[in-house]
Amino acid sequence: MDRARAIRSSGLNSHSRLAEGRQAALLFYENSTRTRMSFESALGRIGARALVLTEATSSATKGESLRDAGRNLEAMGIELIVLRHPDPDSSEYLASQLQIPVVNGGAGAGEHPTQGLYDILTLEDALGSLEGKRIAIVGDIAHSRVARSNFFGLTRLGARVVFCGPPTLVPAAWRELGAEVTDDLDQALCGSHAVMALRLQGERLGPDTPASPGEMRARYGLDPAILSKYPELFVLHPGPIMRGMELSHEVADSERSLIMKQVQSGIFVRMAVLEECFGLAAAVPGESRRREAVR
Ligand code: ASP
Repeated sequence: MDRARAIRSSGLNSHSRLAEGRQAALLFYENSTRTRMSFESALGRIGARALVLTEATSSATKGESLRDAGRNLEAMGIELIVLRHPDPDSSEYLASQLQIPVVNGGAGAGEHPTQGLYDILTLEDALGSLEGKRIAIVGDIAHSRVARSNFFGLTRLGARVVFCGPPTLVPAAWRELGAEVTDDLDQALCGSHAVMALRLQGERLGPDTPASPGEMRARYGLDPAILSKYPELFVLHPGPIMRGMELSHEVADSERSLIMKQVQSGIFVRMAVLEECFGLAAAVPGESRRREAVR
C-alpha cells in the first residue's frame, strides 16, 4: 500500500520504469474487463511487456492442463504470471508448480487480492484510518471473491465488516470469522461508513437460483432514497455494475460513489504488486531500509 501511494505521488508518467525489458503473461481463463486492462496497463507503466492469453484462444480448449500451460510459459522465459481462473485454489496450485511468481487475478469464488487491496486504498483515501470503521458489503456474498478479500484485508486493519443479503447468499458461518451478518439492508447501513454493492454472480449460480433478481433489486438495490437516508455513506462497487439491479444509475454516478476512484487505485496497487513480484522492491529508494525496519 505504501508503494502504491509512493507511485501515485510520483505521478503515473514520471514513475520510473523499473521493470523495463521484463515479460509477464496474463493467463485469463475467465472473462474480464477491468482486471485484465488494469494489469496490462500497470505492466506497461512499469516498463514490462504483457503477453495476454485467454482460455478461449488457448490450448486449454484442446485439453491442456493449467500446469502444462504454466510450465511452457516459464520455459519461454516469462518471468511472472497473472492468473484468472474459476478454481479458488488455482493461483496457489500453479505457484507451487512453477519457479516464477503467480499473481492471483481472481480465483473463482475464492479470492481477488489486488481488488481487496485497492478497495482498501480507496477507503483509506475517503475515510482515513479504517480502525473502528464499519463497512457494509451487500449482495451475493457467497459467490464473491471480492467480498472475501475485502473481509480479510479490512478486518486486519481494524474495520468491522457487515455482510448483508438473503440467507441463501450470505453464509451464516461468516459470523464465526467475526463478520456481522444480516438480511436487513437498514441494519447493515445504519452506522456504516461505506457500502460495497456486489452483483449476483450469475456465472457461479447453479440451476436452483438462490435469490431472484427481482427480490435482490427490491430488497438490496441501492437507490437515491437510500442515499438521502444515509447521506454520509460512501458507495463502492468492484464492477461490472448491473445498473438498475444492485445500483441505480443515480447512485452509481453520484458524488458519494467511489467507483472510478477504485479503478484508479487499482493501477497503482497493481504496479506496486508487480514491481514487488519482479523482485524490484529493493530498487525503490528508501524501500529496503523500510523493509529492514519492519523486520
Ligand atoms: N470484477 C469482480 C470479480 O472479478 C467482481 C464481479 O465480477 O462481480 O470478481
